[in-house]
Amino acid sequence: MDIQILLGITVLAIFLLAFAIELGSGRLRKSPRPGRDALFTLTGLLSQGMIPGALIGSVAGYTMAHLWGGEAAGSLSHIPFWFAFPVIFLGEEMLHYWIHRYAHEWRWLWKIHRTHHSAQELNVGVVYRYNVFWVMLLPQSWVGAFAFYLGLGEAFAAAVMVTFLTNVLTHTTFRWDLWLRQKMPWSEPLWWLLERVITLPDTHHAHHAYGKGAHPNGNYAVTLFIYDVIFGTAKIPNRRQTSFGLPIASRLHWAEELFWPLVKKPLLPKPVKAGDAVAPAATGR
Ligand SMILES: [Zn+2]
Ligand SMILES: [Zn+2]
Repeated sequence: MDIQILLGITVLAIFLLAFAIELGSGRLRKSPRPGRDALFTLTGLLSQGMIPGALIGSVAGYTMAHLWGGEAAGSLSHIPFWFAFPVIFLGEEMLHYWIHRYAHEWRWLWKIHRTHHSAQELNVGVVYRYNVFWVMLLPQSWVGAFAFYLGLGEAFAAAVMVTFLTNVLTHTTFRWDLWLRQKMPWSEPLWWLLERVITLPDTHHAHHAYGKGAHPNGNYAVTLFIYDVIFGTAKIPNRRQTSFGLPIASRLHWAEELFWPLVKKPLLPKPVKAGDAVAPAATGR
């Protein structure tokens, strides 16, 4: 079977299995807006399925065919897997670290990344929760298009599997890291090392949180947390976070969340909380 199709099927199957486990556990009911969450995840899944392959793949293929007259196709297929894989993986993780960091530092880029952060509960569905244009900015989309064209599909597929599995394990609602640490206190020195090298639920939940144990402006790496350590953006809270999302999450229009900058909408009015005094003007008095 074609490696691109096999990769797509494997990723989708693991995602659906993880999602079903969370759904079965009843944990997804905690979200205040499950319908909106489902819409965003479905749109993300569809754009992830269509944009990198069809759109970016065509652009990359056309560019290379135009530049090298088709000779580039498969031209790097002689490179051994164990050389190509670390080069692709380390390079892509580094690129992702910086694009993700700029997405938190530059306002216009933040509006494209913000959709991933407006989730008020964390679960595996958030892995695919994003503005459709975010897919076009992901290094993985571009690296993949070139890698397949040049004959490095296997090494690229392996890198995708590592980052995808990390994403599932770090976005899940289950704090398996805290559970394991509690069950095996003797393993603490290992965790100390591990959490400085790879991203764990602790550091990525902190990235999505606000309030206690939060660190939204840091912990940018998908898998290789060591990049956060090296570039000074690491924070390891070692605790369970209680609030996720953004204070303005309930005031964002869904169409802007999915399609900004194509769709721009003003912030919606503040929701009236139960128990809030009704303004005299609203009562007609
Ligand atoms: Zn982020
Ligand atoms: Zn995330």
